[in-house]
Amino acid sequence: MQCERCHGLTKLKAVKRQHWLNGKLYIVENVQAEVCTDCGERYFHAKTLDAIDELLSRQHLVEKLLDVEVVRFDQEAA
Ligand SMILES: [Zn+2]
Repeated sequence: MQCERCHGLTKLKAVKRQHWLNGKLYIVENVQAEVCTDCGERYFHAKTLDAIDELLSRQHLVEKLLDVEVVRFDQEAA
């Protein structure tokens, strides 16, 4: 497909996605996405996102647990 941001071409790739569901953050590996070869923008099919919601809602295998830092970016100091 064509990228909506830069009109570059996208390629189907398996990527790692940060996915929020019911206030919880998940890192989901091996998710199919169209990735722009120019700007890197990623496009996920609505069906894929629904399938991830569904997977996370039922019993699923957890590969790894991560500690995640939440940081506030200070624009002024940058
Ligand atoms: Zn693009």
